[in-house]
Amino acid sequence: MEFGWSGEQEQGYESARRFGRELGPPPAPGDAAAWRQRWSRCAGFGLQALQVPAAYGGLGMDVRSAVRVLEGLGHGCSDSGLLMALGAQIWSVGAPLAAFGSEPQRRRWLPTLAAGTAIGAFALTEPGSGSDVFHLRTRAIADGAGFRLEGEKIFITNAPVADLFLVLAATAPEAGYFGLTAFVLPRDCPGLEVGPELSKMGLESSPMAALRLSGVWVPPAAVLGEVGGGGAVLMHTLEWERGCLLAPALGTIDRLLQASTTYTRARKQFGRPVVEFEAVAALLAEVRLRLELSRLLLYEFAWRKDQGLAAGLHASMVKLYLSESLRRAAEIALHLHGASGYLRELEFERIWRDAMASSLYSGTTEMQLNLIADSLLRAPARKEEAAG
Ligand SMILES: Cc1cc2nc3c(=O)[nH]c(=O)nc-3n(C[C@H](O)[C@H](O)[C@H](O)COP(=O)(O)OP(=O)(O)OC[C@H]3O[C@@H](n4cnc5c(N)ncnc54)[C@H](O)[C@@H]3O)c2cc1C
Repeated sequence: MEFGWSGEQEQGYESARRFGRELGPPPAPGDAAAWRQRWSRCAGFGLQALQVPAAYGGLGMDVRSAVRVLEGLGHGCSDSGLLMALGAQIWSVGAPLAAFGSEPQRRRWLPTLAAGTAIGAFALTEPGSGSDVFHLRTRAIADGAGFRLEGEKIFITNAPVADLFLVLAATAPEAGYFGLTAFVLPRDCPGLEVGPELSKMGLESSPMAALRLSGVWVPPAAVLGEVGGGGAVLMHTLEWERGCLLAPALGTIDRLLQASTTYTRARKQFGRPVVEFEAVAALLAEVRLRLELSRLLLYEFAWRKDQGLAAGLHASMVKLYLSESLRRAAEIALHLHGASGYLRELEFERIWRDAMASSLYSGTTEMQLNLIADSLLRAPARKEEAAG
């Protein structure tokens, strides 16, 4: 694996960092006009187009270059909610549409997603089905030439503003993985109702709502991939999400570490900069180590994707380690700034609240641990182990 960055990749990182700084902190909660304007600015910069193939109006960037751009963005931009909303579209809607979409589906949606004129949401979770994704209650029942969808989705990022929904439903509930089908639903489908925006602990600029599907009839052309192929769409989508959704967090951790280092070098107590106390320095060292390990995991994931190698296990490791490191880095930054870190005028308490969600969405930490352990249990015993 190559560890260096090309001049172009470094330029991508730097310009995204500058752009992120210009964006500044999140707008006031509920300021929909400001949110839209920021979404359009991001599209003007090319963020929504990063992974959309060039044939459909995107930049078709390789994965390593794209995550490096997002890392730069996360360093400059302290609006973690906007970063989450962008990531949810890029990895959970754009990526599966590009991989599984029919030509008409791609032509209809990818150019507008890339241009920022359409917004996408990925609707998997339900009130009764969170981690247990293969036991969905939303049904797609064959009806005439098409399907009728009935069910409820919850915690859907971008739902309040989305123009299209990628919805997972069961076409053959008894078949589990092989009984799922993915559908592409425009917002104006009769019977599709978006609930009021949900009020969250953090990520306030990442709009979220529930979705009710009451007899939503769709033609076969709304199926993404194949009937019964929803399990494959889901696994593909989760791999991208887990591997790349937190790419901006690398930059955020770096920014938190720099701020904490600067502050603890300047802040004097007992006649010395507090960084000279070992207990303080050890916290900084922990964040530094977490940052480097998170980088290695994410860059390897991106490299594997660029090489066309299997990356499901790596996606779980990135998701687990990066989310837990973001939470820890945010807590340490807040703590090392003393009582001022607890004030709303600094970003630390907000970043901490935002970070708490990262170990929940896209599969919780416990689910990633299960998947990582599962890969060990399923693997054939290595020679030396078999030999006892
Ligand atoms: C900010 C945010 C954005 C989100 N965006 C989206 C979105 O865009 N689209 C979407 O579909 N969903 C979205 N979600 C939902 C998210 O994917 C789910 O919350 C997540 O999968 C967990 O499901 P749950 O909340 O129902 O928890 P549950 O599955 O009920 O889990 C509850 C607890 O039990 C633990 N647990 C459950 N099963 C196991 C097990 N087998 N082993 C060990 N521990 C277990 C979990 O780790 C957790 O701590 C979002 C969530 C958040 C917080």
